[in-house]
Amino acid sequence: MDKIIMICADCEGDHHQIERIFNAFQEQKIKGNFFFVGKTAEENKSLVKEIAQIHNVDSHTYRHANLRKFSKENQREEILHGKHVVEEIIERPTYGFRAPYHAINRDTVEILNEEKFIYDASVLYYRYNMKNVIEIYPSWFREWTGLYEFLHLSPRLNWKFTKLLFKLLNPLVIAVHPHYSGRNEVHTAAMVEFLTYAKEQNARIMTIPDYLRENKPGSFPIATKATKDQNKDSANSDNQGEGIGDRK
Ligand SMILES: [Zn+2]
Repeated sequence: MDKIIMICADCEGDHHQIERIFNAFQEQKIKGNFFFVGKTAEENKSLVKEIAQIHNVDSHTYRHANLRKFSKENQREEILHGKHVVEEIIERPTYGFRAPYHAINRDTVEILNEEKFIYDASVLYYRYNMKNVIEIYPSWFREWTGLYEFLHLSPRLNWKFTKLLFKLLNPLVIAVHPHYSGRNEVHTAAMVEFLTYAKEQNARIMTIPDYLRENKPGSFPIATKATKDQNKDSANSDNQGEGIGDRK
């Protein structure tokens, strides 16, 4: 069985940090998932458009709020505002969501169902019946943070731990943050070192929609540009890019 990795960048960092992650993915020739905070997307429109040409792009609320502190209706507003801002920039619909701080509650699950999200990649600490929404569970993974800095630990340390997770979990769903892994060359190099290792182990590093198309047939019929580039000779490769209109 193929080893699968889905790498997800939670984009709430500054332009250079996001660009560093994007460039690293490009250099590694991998396709990843970028969950943009709406406000961050608004501040980096051309970069978001450029990323969406190649990678999967979804939303991560509008203001990076802790949804568990919100009423249901305020949650809905925060989630949909973020989604619509991102969709307007990339000029195609999005179908996935990641909550800031992995913090959701029953109201969030209801909203994701009511608003017809296909998948969610938030659930780490809490467990809910996600109903029709497919959960892409993030794997336990602690990216380099201020705590590492305080302890004078190397950014490579967490990626060594990730190598262990890679041996244990399939698929492995990694969340990276531009403000950590894109912080500077040293941090990005630590991420790239892991990606290089994973590729040497023949891991397939893929987008969530591509994973769902392969593993949950019918769940995600919409083809994206990212898929087109990957499966140039697939019979389905016409009419891709917008992802609109051929949802069954
Ligand atoms: Zn976040």
